Amino acid sequence: MKRVLVTGGAGYIGSHACKALLRAGIEPVCFDSLDRGHREAVKWGPLVTADLRDGAALDQAFATYRPEAVLHFAALTYVGESVGDPIRYYDNNVGGSLGLIAAMRRAGVDRLVFSSTCAVYGTPDRLPITEDMALNPISPYGHSKRMVEQAIVDAAQAHGLRYAILRYFNACGLDPDGELGEDHDPETHLVPRALMAAAGTLAHLELFGDDYPTPDGTCIRDYIHVSDLADAHVAALRYTGGASAALCANLGTGRGHSVREVLDTVARVTGRKVPVTLAPRRAGDPAALYADPSLARRELGFAPRHSDLDSIVRTAWPHFRRKETQA
Ligand code: UDP
Repeated sequence: MKRVLVTGGAGYIGSHACKALLRAGIEPVCFDSLDRGHREAVKWGPLVTADLRDGAALDQAFATYRPEAVLHFAALTYVGESVGDPIRYYDNNVGGSLGLIAAMRRAGVDRLVFSSTCAVYGTPDRLPITEDMALNPISPYGHSKRMVEQAIVDAAQAHGLRYAILRYFNACGLDPDGELGEDHDPETHLVPRALMAAAGTLAHLELFGDDYPTPDGTCIRDYIHVSDLADAHVAALRYTGGASAALCANLGTGRGHSVREVLDTVARVTGRKVPVTLAPRRAGDPAALYADPSLARRELGFAPRHSDLDSIVRTAWPHFRRKETQA
């Protein structure tokens, strides 16, 4: 394997995956509209600036670079935004993915790794979450990812597409070498917002609810370091080389941490106060979500190395502290 196309390679997880690919000797060709991605995050291969819904641009990228497989990250990813603007989410996430699968077929490329999400499960009826559990997304974002999963499975049946669908839990942390950042606009996620509060670039962190049925009353999530996700993509890419490869696997640690635990870790590792105000529950937040990652362990050799809370905070903090000095 010499070269792959990485849609959304200028985004947070995609850019970390590009770094992991080049380290494994595979050139990543980034295909990104730069609508939400960042040009400065494209460091490990060429950039094609185009939208996935532009079939001619996709055909040209496949013809020019002749990638042997596709890693598909490009998507809109805000749950709240998807509730207010669902058609945009279906158009971008579903429409873009269908266009990509069609272009792969035209180019004769039959290996695909797809970024999915634990949001496809909605509110699960038991924990930890295994891949065979019912899919009941509760947002247009979750539905859009579920629809693409189904399209991939159907295309595999019909045309022999070989695939790995990866359902991420809570991606966080940053490249331990400090070569990449995390710059969502707006930033809605817990770890970066807690670090912004520690750096003083956010006045305070709003804690969304402390009356959940959990030991400390705050929500529990499965936090997975973005570099561990990136390494899992390299393994998933290799997996798609197998005859009739078809995998749908959770990527999480299997351990849940509460919001309070995350905030305590941020305060301890940064040595800063994290100003917190208590706010009402955020609509649609399940009390607890964590993965059973044993399928990924078995099929991909997935073994997170950076996903303890201390490493997550330690690797992300320099980026947010730098912003403090720029502010
Ligand atoms: N959260 C919070 N304050 C924030 C952002 C998030 O209390 O400013 C909580 C949120 O309610 C959830 C957890 O932190 O329980 C993780 O939220 P995030 O948005 O990072 O990821 P999600 O699990 O929603 O994908």
